[in-house]
Amino acid sequence: MMDLMEPVESLKGVGEKTAEILRKFGIKTVKDFFYNLPRDYENYQAPTSINEMRPGKVVIKGRISGLSTRRAKRRNLSVTEGVISDATGAVKVVWFNQGYRIKQFGPEKEYYFTGNFELKNGRYSLISPSAAEVAQIDPRTGLAPVYVAHGGLKSNDFRRLMGNSREKFALVPDLLPSVKTGLRKESLFQVHFPSSVKDIEKAREYLAYEELFELILAAKLNRRENEKLKAFKIPFNLAKTKEFLAGLPFTLTGAQKRATWEIFQDMEKKEPMNRLLQGDVGSGKTMVAAMSAYGAVLGGYQVALLAPTAILATQHFEGLSRVLEPLGVRVALLTGATKKKAELKKQIVNNEIDLVIGTHALLTDDTEFSNLGLVVIDEQHRFGVEQRQKLMLKSPEHKAPHLLAMTATPIPRSLQLTVFGDLDVSVLSEMPKGRQPIKTRILQEIETRDRLYPRIVETVERGNQMYWICKAIDDDPRTETTSVKSRTMKLQKLFPRYKIEFLHGRMKPAEKDAVMERFARGETQILVSTTVVEVGVDVPNATLMAIENAENYGLAQLHQLRGRVGRGVEASECYLITSGDMQPSRRLRELEKSNDGFYLAEVDLKLRGPGEIYGALQHGALDLRIATFSDTQLIHRAQRDVKEFLKKPENMVKYKELMTGITKYQQLTTLN
Ligand code: ADP
Ligand code: MG
Repeated sequence: MMDLMEPVESLKGVGEKTAEILRKFGIKTVKDFFYNLPRDYENYQAPTSINEMRPGKVVIKGRISGLSTRRAKRRNLSVTEGVISDATGAVKVVWFNQGYRIKQFGPEKEYYFTGNFELKNGRYSLISPSAAEVAQIDPRTGLAPVYVAHGGLKSNDFRRLMGNSREKFALVPDLLPSVKTGLRKESLFQVHFPSSVKDIEKAREYLAYEELFELILAAKLNRRENEKLKAFKIPFNLAKTKEFLAGLPFTLTGAQKRATWEIFQDMEKKEPMNRLLQGDVGSGKTMVAAMSAYGAVLGGYQVALLAPTAILATQHFEGLSRVLEPLGVRVALLTGATKKKAELKKQIVNNEIDLVIGTHALLTDDTEFSNLGLVVIDEQHRFGVEQRQKLMLKSPEHKAPHLLAMTATPIPRSLQLTVFGDLDVSVLSEMPKGRQPIKTRILQEIETRDRLYPRIVETVERGNQMYWICKAIDDDPRTETTSVKSRTMKLQKLFPRYKIEFLHGRMKPAEKDAVMERFARGETQILVSTTVVEVGVDVPNATLMAIENAENYGLAQLHQLRGRVGRGVEASECYLITSGDMQPSRRLRELEKSNDGFYLAEVDLKLRGPGEIYGALQHGALDLRIATFSDTQLIHRAQRDVKEFLKKPENMVKYKELMTGITKYQQLTTLN
């Protein structure tokens, strides 16, 4: 057996310089190198004779001569040309900006070339073909792996280096128990030295399975570790909860009741709650948080609520004070703009405050609690793992506070099962009564005058309000996007009688609060804003939204933005304005069709992949090498096998490489 953890230098042909480049791209060990999987395969089987080539994609086999490079008339373009010949004829070959090609080829060696045979400058040539030395390709299969180039190391170099280590693959040990020993080494060998397309598929499936196994195992271990922690048991107070509910201006939805009930049950346990509250925009998560907070305070504990922006924290503070202060709960707001911070912090540590609502300012080391029993994180995916952990560590006596994480970006089931390891989830599947779906329409810029402006007048004259979302804060002559500021001026000219204000992230916190306040009170009719209003802002009287340059946003973000309207009983509308006369993208069309955040999240996952969407995944650290989250069958198989694996404690010792390898996943997939 071999040690996969040896540095890459230990491989034949990898010198100090090559190792340096590889390390820079995260390939540090022999294992990393073996797991640097091909991005694709070229099929060099059945090359065409040069005299039989037809325009289009071709594969030919021949020798190359007469190579030279010159500068093209256009600046920054180098052209490398040569002639490829075989027994039947010769053809001109051209590469653009690939100067290294000059040195790539040996004069007497034979190569495969694959590229487009097309008319260029009045002459048929082979354009920018990829090339592989015939001697390096298995003649029976003709398949050549294509690797992503890394800083001067081209696909060919990877092929050569891989070839140097060919016999080493036989020494790769198994990573995890599987139906057949040696499956791992066979699979790794197959992806780098394939014998057929079918075998590549089989090998990739095993490697995908391995990856899912690691991910699920990491998540399950996180869950186990969480269960070992001690928390405060917070008893449920039925009478007081009923009193609270009686004071609300509405009745809870069934989904809100169920979620609250699940949370109360969790908080009565001695291990910490670790629950995700998932609910589409407008489903009423805040009220669930309020009830949970009230429950914890009644039990004698402090609660911290973390929000991603100051606007949102302020709004939560106002909303929650309104319902909780009459019941004797002492509520405070702690953001960057808070005056007399030191004084407030003293009150918090002295247990004179029951519920602290805040932004990142809550996370500083000098914010200490007397008995923090519950942490609520709104829009949890906006926070990094370290930030969330910081808050969790503020609990006394080495106990962990209960955690309620809330998100409006639904996590599709496949991700829940893998990355988030069977996390406890409550779903607000039901909207409060009387909500009407938001009517969404895609609009070309030139149509706004006829189709949108009349709607603005109607909306405002009816006494409702509007959001207008812009991409940029300032004008930029290089782009055609209208900034928040100039859009405000334009609208003001069109609608001189209306009060129109703007909001963006670079304004001072106090200014932002004031603008938001005036809008919430209904003093402003139109709020022109960047996406700072995206999360959480709740003004039910706003019923119209226009999103300018809608094609510049992601699906989840548009859905979240749109969720700022449709929060009251009145019908709401959202206009997605596209510039130019491009066909609207799939994203926009899906949005026009559906109001269902869960459905849209699945679409988004398919269109963009998880790395773009979810919290810790944001950094791409969890982008899967090979598995996909839509492979439910494989996910279920891996899940079942992980369960078996965990039944035998000796496995944790026996499969050392596995256990060490998954710590990176563990750090990324923890909720708390
Ligand atoms: P989100 O889940 O997007 O955070 P909010 O908690 O901000 O949603 O709630 C959206 C709006 O719905 C708020 O104005 C809130 O007061 C109201 N609301 C919450 N629960 C109910 C309910 N059961 N019935 C009616 N309105 C509700
Ligand atoms: Mg919210």
